[in-house]
Amino acid sequence: GAGEGEAADGTPNVAYEDIGGLDRELEQVREMIELPMRHPELFQQLGIEPPKGVLLHGPPGTGKTLIAKAVANEIDADFQTISGPEIMSKYYGESEEKLREVFDEAEENAPAIVFIDEIDSIAPKRGETQGDVERRVVAQLLSLMDGLEERGDVTVIAATNRVDAIDPALRRGGRFDREIEIGVPDQDGRKEILQVHTRGMPLADDVDIDEFAESTHGFVGADIESLAKEGAMNALRRVRPEIDLESDEIDAELLESIRVTEDDFKS
Ligand code: ATP
Repeated sequence: GAGEGEAADGTPNVAYEDIGGLDRELEQVREMIELPMRHPELFQQLGIEPPKGVLLHGPPGTGKTLIAKAVANEIDADFQTISGPEIMSKYYGESEEKLREVFDEAEENAPAIVFIDEIDSIAPKRGETQGDVERRVVAQLLSLMDGLEERGDVTVIAATNRVDAIDPALRRGGRFDREIEIGVPDQDGRKEILQVHTRGMPLADDVDIDEFAESTHGFVGADIESLAKEGAMNALRRVRPEIDLESDEIDAELLESIRVTEDDFKS
């Protein structure tokens, strides 16, 4: 399914077609990450350095992680994840070391994408929220990024819901100086996301995706995914009484008759 899983070699198995909407945003990400990774000579020829980091920002559940995984998959890159909150709590006292390890691992397995989720918890603005630990972790991150080779075969993608809460040092000077907003989808976006999450489902004829997209104002991708899954579960519950758990076999006709109806999505 969309968004889940990872192959054994550390490359995620999310494809561009698993992303609904976000065409423009994806195009920007591809230009900044995929292009330099595939054709570093273009950038050399132009005398510019490919970006070392790209910052994706926007509300939760809009597809930031999905985009990072899809890019890694499409270029067959290793995918390393750092969770901001985790590195500050679970690895408390070893945060800098953990960061170094992840970057080492990425360089060993290059091409690689290092994905830093919720970077705001690693690198909050200096001043009130930033203590000694944060200062050291930010310094470590900056130095790791500065040390990335210019070839661009390791790129950092960071995500945050709170772009204004990030240490400005991270947002300039060849670090995360490229920012892309991943916003709440509009009706067309919701339609595409609905299509992604229902494409494997046997939909009843009464399901009208356009109407659905219209009636889900304010839903983000993650909401639409749960809505779709819940619909399928409701369809399952309807046929459940006809299924004999004791038997290893399931009636083929019953199986093929299962449909997810409009009501299934609404209950
Ligand atoms: P967070 O800030 O909470 O980490 P995020 O923006 O990284 O959020 P994702 O983890 O990418 O969100 O999305 C969660 C799930 O929601 C995905 O696994 C996917 O199933 C679904 N989803 C989100 N956005 C989209 C989208 N644009 N197209 C298809 N599915 C989406």
